Amino acid sequence: MRKIGRTVKTGAAKNMGGVCGAFLLLPLVFFTAGCAKAPSSQAEFVMGTVCTVNLYNRGTPALYRKVFARLRELEGIMSANREDSDVALINRNAGIGPVAVREELVEVLAAALDYAERSGGAFDPTVGPLVKLWGIGGENPRIPGDAEIREALALINWRDLLVDRAAGTAFLKRPGMALDPGAIAKGYAADEAARLLREAGIPGAIIDLGGNIFAYGRKTGEGLGRNEPWRIGIQDPLADRGVYIGILEIRSQSVVTSGVYERFFEAEGKRYHHILSVQDGRPVDNGLLSVTIIADHSTDADALSTAAFALGYAQGRALVESVPGAEAVFVFADKSLRITPGALEAFTLRDETYRILTSSISKTRKVLPGMAPFPAPWSP
Ligand code: ADP
Ligand code: MG
Repeated sequence: MRKIGRTVKTGAAKNMGGVCGAFLLLPLVFFTAGCAKAPSSQAEFVMGTVCTVNLYNRGTPALYRKVFARLRELEGIMSANREDSDVALINRNAGIGPVAVREELVEVLAAALDYAERSGGAFDPTVGPLVKLWGIGGENPRIPGDAEIREALALINWRDLLVDRAAGTAFLKRPGMALDPGAIAKGYAADEAARLLREAGIPGAIIDLGGNIFAYGRKTGEGLGRNEPWRIGIQDPLADRGVYIGILEIRSQSVVTSGVYERFFEAEGKRYHHILSVQDGRPVDNGLLSVTIIADHSTDADALSTAAFALGYAQGRALVESVPGAEAVFVFADKSLRITPGALEAFTLRDETYRILTSSISKTRKVLPGMAPFPAPWSP
């Protein structure tokens, strides 16, 4: 998922100094005009991905610094790969005892447990041992053996993650367990960035954390009406980056996609992607290529995109429809699309080789109670 037509200037604030320095001999008027202009966007590598924030004509270097400092701070708390993160602290104390962690992580884990429960365990923040085993997105990904997969699966169970919100602690009950908040942390970070922009009085911005997008506030600019939508492209999972199936028009919401193309490796002619089934321990293989969620909060959109992908269409859609304001676009390997009503209103198909199916499932929003239980990984 990428915003259409964005301009990326990596390290824009730093580059400005260089540019102005180079023009020192030019007339002063040109010099000041060049330097006074606010950078239109800034991109940095944080949380394992390129994060771009575009504040349009309202961005100041100080505000960009503040937003990126917050993103780096959150990475420091929630990274599953850094030894000094709060997540690593919890993992080191698995089977030993509860540890105090920063409030942000307590909030994220509470939300993750909520989605774990509501998805019948298909979304599981204790998926860490399996993620490490496959190494997808890392330097040495590989196809693990059946015995290794069984061992990792035995260590995964969100019910063995105890979060005490009042005490501000978290505890993984069994040694060897490991948290991986990778399916929800970027959503939380995007919500935090949006909060900082709201505090700063910014009317509109695009926060793009590696495809996890918050189209915040309203689009402003010359010749634009007051209620102009943001236009967000849905990546074609079968094509190069930047090729879109269609466009979503949204106003002050988050759009997040989980797809087979985000992180993967190929071996023996097969693609292995990064959303793992905690039932069989392998990349989820259910006919879906991607799930895009629209929601008011990016934490929900992020968790829902992974959860709905892992659950598959029928149960995934029921879960999405149980969250007020959440909508979804499901993209299937046969190039069919299934779209919830609110998303359909916002969607324009661009690639006619895809077709939109109108589904007989879940016309009503009250489908969750009838949802078939997702078999728990620990059931025989
Ligand atoms: P992205 O990382 O591209 O934003 P997602 O939000 O879908 O994509 O998160 C995928 C990540 O979530 C994986 O890289 C892994 O760290 C973690 N993960 C994989 N499978 C599951 C699962 N079944 N439940 C929860 N988290 C998962
Ligand atoms: Mg996610």
